Amino acid sequence: MSAVPADYQPRADLLAGRTVLITGAGDGIGRAVAEACAAHGATVVLLGRTVRKLERVYDAIVDAGHPEPAIYPMDLLGAAPTHHEELAQRVDSELGRLDGLLHNAGILGPMTAIERYDPDQWARVFQVNVHAAFLLSRACLPLMRRTGDASMVFTSSGVGRHGRAYWGAYACSKFAIEGLSQVLADEVQNEGRVRSNCISPGPVRTAMRAAAFPGEDPQRLLTPREVVIPYLYLLGPDSRGLNGASVDAQSR
Ligand code: NDP
Repeated sequence: MSAVPADYQPRADLLAGRTVLITGAGDGIGRAVAEACAAHGATVVLLGRTVRKLERVYDAIVDAGHPEPAIYPMDLLGAAPTHHEELAQRVDSELGRLDGLLHNAGILGPMTAIERYDPDQWARVFQVNVHAAFLLSRACLPLMRRTGDASMVFTSSGVGRHGRAYWGAYACSKFAIEGLSQVLADEVQNEGRVRSNCISPGPVRTAMRAAAFPGEDPQRLLTPREVVIPYLYLLGPDSRGLNGASVDAQSR
């Protein structure tokens, strides 16, 4: 389903004065969306586990003359509820607001049959892909509610809507993310201050896609930069009123 207008083009100052937090911002889709948000005026909080990658994104944004981002190194696998709460407090005390939150970080885990799936690996995939998104949403909601027009975006996948053999915990985690987004959307519907939607990026040329489809020719896939427009739409003010949707980034 696509709720993004087919001809949508974000205006240059779409996110001016706004703060957007992106998880998994050091690579792949997260990096491209972070750079696009900054290019449209946002102060971006770059969350990820590899500092070297976050620094590269920071440099690219600053070199391009966009608002200076903030780097927040955090391994979502080991982060406790208090770590998420500390993050929300830091964003509040140092930046004063949070208008957009993209839950983008994710891991694929093993591609194997359920009966052979290692339980520890299963738990790790759920920790990063689902529990971290729950903990971060929970910690950031009070701050986001204050702006009056904030957007929470969760990252789904085609296998989060139709289960497929050997996609194991990854597919199940994406079903859970669709559920988390819908439950939250229903809870915030009447307030109208925060909205919650899902995006499924479709096949995109990243390290994760290459790991899942090693025989595929990556040149046939869109690059992360080529899929950022629906993300900008969901994160910015133009999607105000859209809540509880699940959007396909590549079917505009
Ligand atoms: P990448 O593997 O390229 O990037 C994932 C990002 O998540 C990386 O920056 C990675 O950090 C970060 N990350 C992973 N584990 C953790 C952790 N424990 N703590 C903090 N950060 C972490 O993936 P994509 O860009 O392809 O995927 C982005 C999202 O899109 C994911 O949710 C994925 O499931 C989804 N998706 C992607 C599709 C595709 O075709 N690419 C299709 C459908 C959905 P680091 O670089 O340090 O490892």
